[in-house]
This record gives sequence, structure tokens and C-alpha cells, in this order.
Amino acid sequence: MGLFDSIKKGIADLLGKAKDEAVETAVDAAKDKANDAIDNAKDAAREKAEERKQEKERAAEAERKAHEEARVCSQCGRHAAPEEKFCPECGGKIVEKFRVCSKCGKRAEDAEKFCTECGGEIVEKVEEIKN
Ligand SMILES: [Zn+2]
Ligand SMILES: [Zn+2]
Repeated sequence: MGLFDSIKKGIADLLGKAKDEAVETAVDAAKDKANDAIDNAKDAAREKAEERKQEKERAAEAERKAHEEARVCSQCGRHAAPEEKFCPECGGKIVEKFRVCSKCGKRAEDAEKFCTECGGEIVEKVEEIKN
């Protein structure tokens, strides 16, 4: 091998090495980026799931409270405690009384006479207590 050839080979080796290093660096950077993106996506998914869970719990709690507040004596109208099945005042059966829209069924606040959703008339709905 002549001097020129060995210089050529040396330069080729150096170039090859530099190229390998550059590729490695680029691959590492891409890997880091991908891992970061995956971590971010995981975090976001976890947060979303937690939010959904809390929303569900809030809705369940509101529903439970609404049922509790709706419990009244069917005879004297006395508000009943959650564990009461019959009225301690008059022996009347405890029922759940809801104020709902006659058109769309949306539950209404005490003061509402017409549905805030569809303008339908609010009626009182009496429900037997299950369980
Ligand atoms: Zn009663
Ligand atoms: Zn309505």
C-alpha cells in the first residue's frame, strides 16, 4: 500500500467513525425524545383517568344526596332520614319526591316552575324507595 492509499484509508476511517458517532447521537436523541413523548402521554392519560374518576365520584355523590333530600313521608310530607322507611310522626310510608320536567324529565330546583332546559312544566314525581 502506497502512502497516498494509506492516507486515503485513514481519512475514510475517520469519516466512517464520525458518521457512526453522528448516527449514534442522532439515534440517542430520537430515543430520548420518543421516551419523553411516551412519558408525557402516560402522564396525560393518568391525569385524564383521575379526572374522570373524580367526576364520576362527584356525580355519584350528587345523585346520592339528591335521593337523600328527596325522601319524604307520603302522608305528612315530613323530611325523612336516610334509614327511615316509615314516618316516625304518622307512620306514613317514606317515598322519594322529585320535581322534574314533564317534557324532558330534567330534575328541577325547588324554585323552578318551568324547565330551564326546554321550558316544560315542572311536575312532582313520587318514587317508591327501592332496597
Ligand atoms: Zn309522616
Ligand atoms: Zn325540560
